Amino acid sequence: YGQRSGQAAEDIASPKRTKELIQKYGFTLKKSLGQNFLIDQNILTKIVAAAELDSGKGALEIGPGIGALTQQLAKTAGRVVAVEIDQRLLPMLKETLEPYPHVSVVHGDVLKTDLRELFETHFRDVSKVSVVANLPYYVTTPIVMKLLEEKLPLEHIVVMIQKEVADRMAAKPGGKDYGSLSIAVQYYCEPEVVTIVPHTVFIPQPNVDSAVIKLKVRERPPVEVEDESFFFDVVQASFVQRRKTIYNNLAARYFTKETKGQLEGILRNAGIEPSRRGETLSIEEYSVLSRHLAAALKRNG
Ligand code: SAM
Repeated sequence: YGQRSGQAAEDIASPKRTKELIQKYGFTLKKSLGQNFLIDQNILTKIVAAAELDSGKGALEIGPGIGALTQQLAKTAGRVVAVEIDQRLLPMLKETLEPYPHVSVVHGDVLKTDLRELFETHFRDVSKVSVVANLPYYVTTPIVMKLLEEKLPLEHIVVMIQKEVADRMAAKPGGKDYGSLSIAVQYYCEPEVVTIVPHTVFIPQPNVDSAVIKLKVRERPPVEVEDESFFFDVVQASFVQRRKTIYNNLAARYFTKETKGQLEGILRNAGIEPSRRGETLSIEEYSVLSRHLAAALKRNG
């Protein structure tokens, strides 16, 4: 793969080229769609390098904007598919991505897109696929959770997101950043914050700090879980009131006044002191706890 024309196409990510394109098409950026475009080639290079792509691999981009990251992905990956919700960007993408015949732009909302079907249609001939994107911040968590819960055959997810969300995804037990998002992400992936990103690399500049996070998708979860939906329900219940003990949160979710007497024993049998808070339990402890709790609730009928 490569470029159709002999000469190298100009990088889209320069402030000059971005402004030119926006002007040429009379485009107005929509804040409600999280449209903060990247104008820094170094950041794009870092994002693409983190994804470890090569000509035998595919990249799925969510929200190509005017194609700045898409162009860099096209230079590295064998197949690129970019899903863009804003129809007004399609003519611009047609121009900027014209030199790259192995790139397809799909018009749609990624949250409503059948990604399995998209994979079957577009990624049959590649060995591995990674998601690489500068995500629209208003839907970061739903997008990442959709990618993980649908168990798509992904190698990496490398995304620009709010720094605060990146910190929560990568957090270890014991701090205020650790919560159900950390556990969900770490159940499916090994997270690594690649770099913190200054406001100045975007047009327009967002009013939150940003970071690039790399999620290496695990072949199997790090703990044994019989019933995933119950496991995640226990995790979620444990953080309903962060300042309360695990005992209080679980009592409120799963027990009545009559049955709540069992809970202390269940927690102790699972090796967990009832006075601990949800934010101190590791994924391993949640897996043991959910097993003990499921068995007890089953006995209760
Ligand atoms: N990739 C470009 C860049 O880095 O300059 C643009 C990134 S911008 C932060 C986010 C992009 O996602 C915008 O182009 C926006 O229109 C698009 N977008 C927003 N919501 C979307 C959704 N639900 N599905 C697909 N694309 C979406």
